[in-house]
Amino acid sequence: MAKATETKSASTKRTRSAAETKKINTALVERRDELQAEYDQTLTEIAELQRDRLDDSAGDDTADTGTKTFEREQEITLANNLLERITQVERAIDRLGEGNYGWCEKCGNAIPVERLAAFPSATLCVSCKQLEERR
Ligand SMILES: [Zn+2]
Repeated sequence: MAKATETKSASTKRTRSAAETKKINTALVERRDELQAEYDQTLTEIAELQRDRLDDSAGDDTADTGTKTFEREQEITLANNLLERITQVERAIDRLGEGNYGWCEKCGNAIPVERLAAFPSATLCVSCKQLEERR
């Protein structure tokens, strides 16, 4: 009969099952690998654009060179964004190891695994996030 109070105190404790922690870790590592692959791809494209630009400068086609420079700048911006996201995911993996990751900053509830996999930088649960956006 004392079960009800026990359940209540347990729900406020910040614990996740080992299986769930592992699932989050796997999702984050997968995410990091995806971003890393995308980053490597972008760097290859930047190198190619750079090479093209050097080839073109011999022909002195100014308009084309301008387009290539613009494309290259876009790729560099993309690469920087990807690098930032990789760092975010890596930080999340570290925090997960310390047991400080995946808890809503507002209500303290566990953020669902799927949400963390999609948004590794999420610090709020879905309902708190919705409240935030409604303001
Ligand atoms: Zn919340």
